[in-house]
Amino acid sequence: MKVKFITLGCKTNQYETNAMEQRLSNDGFEIIKEDDKTKIPDICIVNTCSVTNIAERKSRQMLRKIKEANPNAIVIACGCYAQVAKEEIEKMPEVDIVAGINEKNHIDEIIKNYLKLNENSNKNLSSNSKNKIIGSKDTKMKTNKETKNKIVEVSDVMHEKDFQDFGTTTYTESTRAVIKIQDGCDRFCSYCIIPYARGKVRSRSPESIIQEIKAISKKGYKEVVLTGIHIASYGKDFKDENVKKYRQEYGYPKEYVSFDPKEDLSTGGFRLIELLEQINKIDGIERIRIGSIEPKLITEDFIKRLSKLNKICNHFHLSLQSGCDETLKRMNRRYTTEEFEKSANIIRKYFNNVHLTTDIIVGFPGETEKEFNKTYEFLSKIKFYKMHIFKYSVRKGTVAEKMENQIDGKIKEERSQKLIELSNKFEKEYNEAMVGTNTKVLFEEEKNGYYRGHTTNYAIVNVKSQNDISNQILNVKITGENSLELFGSID
Ligand code: SF4
Repeated sequence: MKVKFITLGCKTNQYETNAMEQRLSNDGFEIIKEDDKTKIPDICIVNTCSVTNIAERKSRQMLRKIKEANPNAIVIACGCYAQVAKEEIEKMPEVDIVAGINEKNHIDEIIKNYLKLNENSNKNLSSNSKNKIIGSKDTKMKTNKETKNKIVEVSDVMHEKDFQDFGTTTYTESTRAVIKIQDGCDRFCSYCIIPYARGKVRSRSPESIIQEIKAISKKGYKEVVLTGIHIASYGKDFKDENVKKYRQEYGYPKEYVSFDPKEDLSTGGFRLIELLEQINKIDGIERIRIGSIEPKLITEDFIKRLSKLNKICNHFHLSLQSGCDETLKRMNRRYTTEEFEKSANIIRKYFNNVHLTTDIIVGFPGETEKEFNKTYEFLSKIKFYKMHIFKYSVRKGTVAEKMENQIDGKIKEERSQKLIELSNKFEKEYNEAMVGTNTKVLFEEEKNGYYRGHTTNYAIVNVKSQNDISNQILNVKITGENSLELFGSID
């Protein structure tokens, strides 16, 4: 049977789509590329996103669109939106299977159950027995208004304690391999639904991560990106006996600082830093990139240890969201601008030519002109390499949904434009400072007559080459910059 995936949302979702593809492919299913119009899929799986109301709307639109284009296909909605709104999706006539977050891990079995159920029902079920709910609290099977039985399988992720390990997967973005190291988030920022969709922090075992990276390295990948929902929390959920086991296995002293709930990102026995130290030892991997982290993780000790690892890229995505303390408080972010600035300074002290990038939300409920100006000033002081600007969008079911003083769309647009201009200005300045320097670039692909790649600090570099230089790390002399990209020649 032919299966087509459509993925919405973040890197973690992309990773999980890839893992599901590999699982189904091993099971004899044929995977069709998303843009392949030559083959008709028997099964369409939409890996949905729930991060904003807009993302949910897009997920619903995609489910309808895919059914319209493939009326005979089995349509599956899985992922975050399916997890938080199973009843809503269950009602959609276009959808045949609703599967939550954990269910991605056995999507093959769910599909087989569905096929069996419908095969049997076509033979055995009388029309009277249709529309009948069968099954347990969490798993139910239901007929839709036409002829098929639906399957709804969404387990209670909020009480899930174990990381659902997909095993060795190869998910790549150009020449970078993306590795999922944890799931879930315990931070409960007031605007975010993700902790409800993904549950509590669950970390993947170091053995499993290292095994996957070793396999990826053997395939010739040189760069890995560690991803997850809140990777700064990596290891906080490990049981004491596991911490002891991992520490012994990887040669750390027996004594360690026990996990302190108040300092939950910087204490505990086997955390992100220990994991990174082990990944750094893997032969063949030359670059390690860390996904989005938060300032509370950045202590002098953490960065000092990190700076000793030769493969860590000098680029950190340090999520800020607002440069105003009052707004940060309403967002339930757990740091102040002063603490953030301290973290940025520590990183800059230990890493040369480091680029810091960030995410900012404008127009958060109650954000006055004065508050926005504070953010603008703070951003001007920190001077990020690049800022991703998001206009606040209400998410049903969050604390911020009920907050007073929701901001007018026009104001959000104006604030967003101002920050985009500021971001572009800084990026251009940083890029101009790189002209005339030599730097190493990992080339990814050919585009418009140029080979394109990234420096360790995540600047984009273009060079002309007669040879295929993709997946090679080469020395480049930077000769110019244009439209926020660098140009150069191979040294
Ligand atoms: S840290 Fe905040 S924004 Fe990020 S996933 Fe957790 S709750 Fe959402």
